[in-house]
Amino acid sequence: METNALSIAVIWEIAANRLKRRNLCLYQQWFSKVVPLSVEGNKVMLGVTDEFFAMMIEDNYDDILSDALTNLEGVDYVWEFVPGHEPAVKKDDKPKTVSVSPAPAPVAPKQEKAARSQRNCLPEYTFENFVVGAENRPAFVAARNAAETPGVYNPLYIFGGSGVGKTHLLHAVANAARKQNPGMVVRYATCDELLNDFYDLLQQKKSLNEFREIRNVDMLLVDDVHSLAKKNQMQEEFFNLFNALYNQGKQIILTSDKQPCEISDLDKRLVTRFESGMTAELGVPEFEARLAILRMMRNEMISKNKLGDEFLEFLAANISSSVRRLKGAFYRLTCYTSGSGNDKLTLAEAEDLLRIQLDQENKARDISMETIQRTVATHFGVTFSALLGKERTRTIAEPRMIAMYLCRELTENSTNEIGAAFGKNHATILHAEKQVPKLCESNEAVRRAVSTLKRQLQK
Ligand code: ADP
Ligand code: MG
Repeated sequence: METNALSIAVIWEIAANRLKRRNLCLYQQWFSKVVPLSVEGNKVMLGVTDEFFAMMIEDNYDDILSDALTNLEGVDYVWEFVPGHEPAVKKDDKPKTVSVSPAPAPVAPKQEKAARSQRNCLPEYTFENFVVGAENRPAFVAARNAAETPGVYNPLYIFGGSGVGKTHLLHAVANAARKQNPGMVVRYATCDELLNDFYDLLQQKKSLNEFREIRNVDMLLVDDVHSLAKKNQMQEEFFNLFNALYNQGKQIILTSDKQPCEISDLDKRLVTRFESGMTAELGVPEFEARLAILRMMRNEMISKNKLGDEFLEFLAANISSSVRRLKGAFYRLTCYTSGSGNDKLTLAEAEDLLRIQLDQENKARDISMETIQRTVATHFGVTFSALLGKERTRTIAEPRMIAMYLCRELTENSTNEIGAAFGKNHATILHAEKQVPKLCESNEAVRRAVSTLKRQLQK
């Protein structure tokens, strides 16, 4: 077998041809951006821009890719995605990192710096194509203000769940700020990228000179700072970087899936810094906004075979846990209709095509214990960590007991499981289960709180 082994180039050529024949739209949208890297045995390494891209393929087109890699000269290949690989840049695409023209003219240092900082910014994420609704307006407005008037609030800290538009907003800030002021050096990085850079420098025992470069930026956008959790040494470096920029009045914007105080083991000094500017929560947009996102996507499509309103409404109504999922489901349906030439897709067929996504959605809708804990904490104005802590004062013990009771009422978890989620044993949960209804009878405020919370959680 080894002697007949196909090269990665040939493997991908065959797979790509199969994918194109199967569904050209899907190929162009997704697979054309995959970079074949290497093959070892029956495993191929495929480069993709980032984890989001990999996840979209895994979640939606796993079976299609698997088919394309099956039975190539008798071998079934499996794959692994390697984030961090940009597809070859097309002619009219933005920054040229590969020099194609002979002897490029020397660039002025400032331009060079700007070009470098542009490297990982996505031009397609703008404020213009961010649909605004009640759930994301505060974060949107704050981000736009920060882009227009850098330094207005420093730092701006945006938090929200997965797929709600955090990364989109950061890139939109970068694009808008540069448009307004082309000389501006804006650096976007995921927190993990920054931490890797710190780590490399520390490993090589290089002077932190190299790191000065990043201190010279005009605006720093750090995505997913919850990655700082528990990384003590790195937090120190991050703190220094933060201060250096902050003291020069440079705009810093951070995103995270949690509030600063909820990031586990985050140095108090960082929590204080993160909370010292403006904090804005980003939620999944409501039905109307979800529909508007789908309409916008439909308008942008070139294909003649466009999905009818009833499909968009079906998607907006049934996929409400993340915009990323919503978009993924839209692509799946569109690619199906344009690829198969089937313009008579029925809703029942659509439902069938989206079975996996709809199942995921139902799971996402199951109320988790963490959601209950967070909702209860917010309702009573106590922190998430205090709710899970040991303090026994009434202001905390009562909400904690209510949260336990709601976990019992609204989830299928056993008392042991709920106990574990609170760091308590099952007897404590049984106690809460008995106590809370009694409290509700004797105390109108508690009764009202419990019913409001139930309603909120079951929405
Ligand atoms: P997060 O970083 O919060 O996980 P992303 O910013 O990656 O989420 O968003 C996921 C996808 O949803 C992206 O394609 C993004 O463009 C899209 N998206 C999210 N919110 C909106 C919105 N309000 N309007 C238009 N597209 C959105
Ligand atoms: Mg993101």
